[in-house]
Amino acid sequence: MTVDSREYQQYYQSKEGSMEVIHVTLGNSDLGISWGDGHESIYTNKYLRGHCGCAVCVEEMTGRRIISEDNIQQDIQALDWIQVGRYALQFLWSDTHDTGIYPFELLRNLCACKDCGSAKDG
Ligand SMILES: [Zn+2]
Ligand SMILES: [Zn+2]
Repeated sequence: MTVDSREYQQYYQSKEGSMEVIHVTLGNSDLGISWGDGHESIYTNKYLRGHCGCAVCVEEMTGRRIISEDNIQQDIQALDWIQVGRYALQFLWSDTHDTGIYPFELLRNLCACKDCGSAKDG
């Protein structure tokens, strides 16, 4: 028995709007995410790795960033990913870091596509 995925998607989209990940593309230098609302996000691997918000990368008490883009190797790659619940993605990075959870909301905020980039600049 399988759940009718179309029915599920419609239910989910009406409930959560854009906050659904349809597809994740892992590239040599970039990482792409296709969203339920048709938006296509693109990030450089280094940028995304540098915005990891886990306790190893960000000091929990102060919120100070310990690992930022400056500390990350140039050729960093995401080797694998899983969805966490209905709200986040978790990546396995080529530097073996895998504790970072990226909530959909954060990923949308970090999106560096043409539309989002210009919106943030303006
Ligand atoms: Zn981290
Ligand atoms: Zn975007």
